[in-house]
Amino acid sequence: MSIERLSILGSTGSIGVQTLDIVRRYPQRFKVTSLVAHSRWEELAKQAREFEVESVVIGDERHYEALRNALADTNIEVMAGSEAINHVARSYRSDTVVNALVGYAGLHPTYLAIESGKRIALANKETLVVGGDIIMSAARHKGVDIMPIDSEHSAIMQCLEGEQRKAIRNLIITCSGGALRNTPREELESVTPEMALKHPQWSMGAKITIDSATLVNKGFEVIEARWLFDIEPERIKVVVHPQSIVHSMVEFTDGAVKAQLGTADMHTPISYALLYPERAEEAMEQFSILNYPTLTFLDVDREKYPALDIAYEVLHRGGTAPCTMNGANEVAVAAFLAHKCKYTDIVGAIRYALDNASFEKSPTLSIYDDANIESRELARRHLKLDK
Ligand code: NAD
Ligand code: MG
Repeated sequence: MSIERLSILGSTGSIGVQTLDIVRRYPQRFKVTSLVAHSRWEELAKQAREFEVESVVIGDERHYEALRNALADTNIEVMAGSEAINHVARSYRSDTVVNALVGYAGLHPTYLAIESGKRIALANKETLVVGGDIIMSAARHKGVDIMPIDSEHSAIMQCLEGEQRKAIRNLIITCSGGALRNTPREELESVTPEMALKHPQWSMGAKITIDSATLVNKGFEVIEARWLFDIEPERIKVVVHPQSIVHSMVEFTDGAVKAQLGTADMHTPISYALLYPERAEEAMEQFSILNYPTLTFLDVDREKYPALDIAYEVLHRGGTAPCTMNGANEVAVAAFLAHKCKYTDIVGAIRYALDNASFEKSPTLSIYDDANIESRELARRHLKLDK
């Protein structure tokens, strides 16, 4: 098998670092050609040396000089800024792009990578939340595979192997309930970022951990599933499963339900996405069902977690509505993490943006850019944040 050349966008983050763990195990299979990170230039330089990459991009241009100096004794090309990220996404130097950026910033790179015919390993779910329609039709048109790096979607994909589409009745996405699962609704107003960042099962980046606490993440995963598996939203169900052992399920027309189980470790979905149709020869951590004698499942409390119904609502409205939800959420989560708004203001900002944003039924990528800017401004106005 010829060596597969990878570009990893977001290499210093939670998914990026775990992707490099997998790559390290398969030196004959993968060669990392480019790495992209936002601001942690020292770690990026270290990764660049270890994997002997051809190019690196630092998103925040203020760190360009420091990164260039740190790699001055190498032949590694050093670039900065969002145009350089786009350049890496479409560069002929890689076969596969692992997109592990956070937020709207992931949309254009995914699109450009598809346009240039590359395989996509997609952790950046915001790409599909915002532009699922455009992205999936571009992927079909170009004949490129989009492999999900999200435990639920990886589980569903594994359950669907060898099955016929017409036999699918429902997709059942599991949800841990996030850090505030046991916090009563009346106490949500006073939740601090520190409390919401304590995810019971998964160790992830800050933004997705807050999204897990509000269930915005689960709403986004419903939207992600709608596009990845081309299925009507009514047939995508969510159940709370506090142990995070069943990563998701598929219910078939004959009454059979298939589930995929394992430890809460993203190395498995990452290796599945990279090695498919093969599997990693060894898990990072072995799983024993005997350690989990009790697995429980319950309904989502829709009043405590209004974000889930908002996600179904924007999915039904279509057009720019999911983009508006995403942009307002990004601003509100950053504000919450900076102690500039309350936990409950996150959904408030999303609601305000959706009620006040302009709406376009059939957007192009540049209309998404405008809708993203508008929703961020609306959220800022609602939260009374300085520009
Ligand atoms: P993270 O915050 O740990 O890492 C993000 C990475 O992207 C960092 O390397 C950062 O430098 C880079 N980055 C962010 N914005 C950038 C920008 N504008 N320009 C350049 N670089 C930028 O995040 P994460 O937890 O690894 O999540 C990455 C994506 O994967 C998110 O979309 C998240 O929803 C998804 N995801 C994560 C997990 C998980 O376990 N962490 C699971 C499923 C899905
Ligand atoms: Mg997930």
